[in-house]
Amino acid sequence: RSPILSAHPISEFLTSSGTSAGERKLMPTIREELDRRQLLYSLLMPVMNLYMPGLDKGKGLYFLFVKSETKTPGGLLARPVLTSYYKSDHFKTRAFDPYNVYTSPNEAILCPDSFQSMYSQMLCGLYERLQVLRLGAIFASGLLRAIRFLQLNWRELAHDIRTGTLNLKISDSDIKSCMARVLRPDQELADFIESECSKDNWERIITRIWPNTKYLEVIVTGAMAQYIPTLDYYSGGLPKVCTMYASSECYFGLNLNPMSKPSEVSYTIMPNMAYFEFLPHDPNSPSAGSDKLVDLVDVEVGKEYELVITTYAGLCRYRVGDILRVTGFHNSAPQFHFVRRKNVLLSIDSDKTDEAELQSAVENASKLLNKFNTTVVEYTSYADTKTIPGHYVIYWELLVKDPTNAPTKEVLEQCCLAMEESLNSVYRQGRVECNSIGALEIRVVKNGTFEELMDYAISRGASINQYKVPRCVNFTPIMELLDSRVLSNHFSQSLPHWTPERRR
Ligand code: AMP
Repeated sequence: RSPILSAHPISEFLTSSGTSAGERKLMPTIREELDRRQLLYSLLMPVMNLYMPGLDKGKGLYFLFVKSETKTPGGLLARPVLTSYYKSDHFKTRAFDPYNVYTSPNEAILCPDSFQSMYSQMLCGLYERLQVLRLGAIFASGLLRAIRFLQLNWRELAHDIRTGTLNLKISDSDIKSCMARVLRPDQELADFIESECSKDNWERIITRIWPNTKYLEVIVTGAMAQYIPTLDYYSGGLPKVCTMYASSECYFGLNLNPMSKPSEVSYTIMPNMAYFEFLPHDPNSPSAGSDKLVDLVDVEVGKEYELVITTYAGLCRYRVGDILRVTGFHNSAPQFHFVRRKNVLLSIDSDKTDEAELQSAVENASKLLNKFNTTVVEYTSYADTKTIPGHYVIYWELLVKDPTNAPTKEVLEQCCLAMEESLNSVYRQGRVECNSIGALEIRVVKNGTFEELMDYAISRGASINQYKVPRCVNFTPIMELLDSRVLSNHFSQSLPHWTPERRR
């Protein structure tokens, strides 16, 4: 509570998806920060309305979720920023606004059980399918998870709609009483859902079920760009709108041209949200960047910077870890293209795994191979988003010194789990609480595969002296080479350990 650190009392801690020593970082925040975030939210629809009129004539189907929260030893809540927002009065008791009517009731959004929350949000979205004008989630991965949920649960959802009763798996009393107001038997709708969902082909399923949808509202910039082809498949190429750029540290700004293509999206920084500074970043020589900070007014078009902010919550200055490129100005406020997050090798949902974390996970897992006199000679990785939810794939080249005692299938499955146990808590929470990440897969490749990989890189101009095995791959010819050399593949058979409590 010392006013030396913060003039305002710290009201809670926000838990970022950025981690430190494997745990979510804690960002102190103050009560008035909620007003600032609310201000930014309140600008989104007026901007959208300039490009897409009539949004007050229907509803938004947004899949929104809360995550678990804990208390710090000092008694303050620690939780993700969106959980804090959805549980605040700003959200819960918001005034009616025809431009912001959601199909999901608060009770469904606020239910901490992700299955029950998703089920009831989907059910409401199906009942109101003709009113839905926009469909969304925070990140693209979340919307795809909802589609996958529909694939797995449409029979039960259609049954509820046919009978006007609620699935017995829904035990949350708040949801039960609010769904009692929504549920009614509707044979025609149940028939429609069954006939659409039982088809083998799910192409354009979004526009088939919600035919009045004008656009998808999901973040598809940065790491989420990997989901664009799948979203296009399910939506028949509906526009994908990225409205804002935000983090636990601070909400940074908004997209003033929301209909722009994902690759051309720029976010305009709102100068009142924090004190913004920029660390010059040279894309051709990332380690050679200057350490002299540039102010918001001095950034130059075309240059890349790492974002540094000082919030209103006292003496806290953050290197956010995002690399941005200046694309222009709106009046005097600079606009930025999100280039990438620094040091992220693998990401499926909000998880971010860097090279050091992957390395230590491989080291920990490979200890299980010691008694088989086997070592991992090389490895690389890949975020496989063809499955929903996506999952990490780790390619291993093994040196089996005694072929009569090679590691068994069960041991390699245990290696998958050991890697997951070593990954950070945001990854493990995605596996356990949110089901947003699928089981980790190890693909064992033939001996000599990584040498072939090097030969390939050299044939494309890499220098032998400087060649380093890429620890993450996503270039199609390399993936094809690796996949054509796979001897066996193995998945984690159980979930890693995760609880809301911090490990330390
Ligand atoms: P968190 O602190 O867990 O809320 O994560 C915030 C991070 O998510 C940011 O620093 C970005 O790396 C990423 N992020 C948030 N909004 C966007 C966006 N619109 N486009 C790309 N990445 C984003």
